[in-house]
Amino acid sequence: MNLRNELTLLRDLGFTHLDIPTRVAAPLAVDESDGVALLDELKAIAVVCVKCKLAKTRTQVVYGVGNPNADLMFIGEAPGRDEDLKGEPFVGRAGQLLTDIIKAMKLTRDDVYIANVVKCRPPENRNPEPEELDACRPYIRRQVEIIQPKVIVTLGKFALQSLTEKSYGITAARGQWLEYNGVKVMPTYHPAYLLRTPSAKKDVWADMKKVIAELGMAT
Ligand code: URA
Ligand code: SF4
Repeated sequence: MNLRNELTLLRDLGFTHLDIPTRVAAPLAVDESDGVALLDELKAIAVVCVKCKLAKTRTQVVYGVGNPNADLMFIGEAPGRDEDLKGEPFVGRAGQLLTDIIKAMKLTRDDVYIANVVKCRPPENRNPEPEELDACRPYIRRQVEIIQPKVIVTLGKFALQSLTEKSYGITAARGQWLEYNGVKVMPTYHPAYLLRTPSAKKDVWADMKKVIAELGMAT
C-alpha cells in the first residue's frame, strides 16, 4: 500500500493523529499485486476495531474470506449468530443457501471472496444503523480496492446501499448492472429473503446467469 493510500485509509477509519518515532525504519517492500499482505494488514486493523457500538456486543469481527484475487465478490449485510461465533461470513442457514448458489455457478467459496458491509453482529440481528454502516464502510471499500474483482454481487438492500452510498430500492435495482468505482455491480436479493420467499430464487438465478455471462464462464 502506498503512503497516500495508507494515510487516507487511516483517516477514513477515524484516526486523527499518528505517533511517528524519530527514527523511522525502512518501509517493508510490499508488492502492489500482493493482495494477501494488504488484506491481512487491513484485517489486523479491523479485528480490534471499536469505531461503532457493535464492538461492545460482538464475539469477534467477521472480516471476510476467500480468494484475494477473486474475479467475483459477494457482499452481504452483517454477521448473524453463527457468523459471530465462527468468525466467518455466511456460515448459517442463509450462508448455506449462498454456498449452494455459488456451487450452482460451478464455483466454490474458495474461488470467490465473501464479506459484509458491517463486520460485527448487530444484537438480535436487527438492521444495521446508519452510523454503523458509515463507520464500517471504509473496510469493505478497501477490500474491493485490494481484490479488484471484475464483478460484485450485492446481497440485499443494505449491501447495495452501503457500498455505493446511494438509496437504491432493491426491487427496482435487482438484476440491473450498476457500477461502483469502475467495478460492475449486480444487485440481487439477500439469501435470508430467499429462505422466506423461495419463489424469488428464480430471480436470483436469472441475475447469476448475467454474472456468469459477464465473467465469460461456461454454464
Ligand atoms: N447475512 C449476511 O448478510 N451476512 C452474513 O455473513 C450472514 C448472514
Ligand atoms: Fe468497527 Fe465495523 Fe465492527 Fe463497527 S461494525 S466496530 S466499524 S469493524
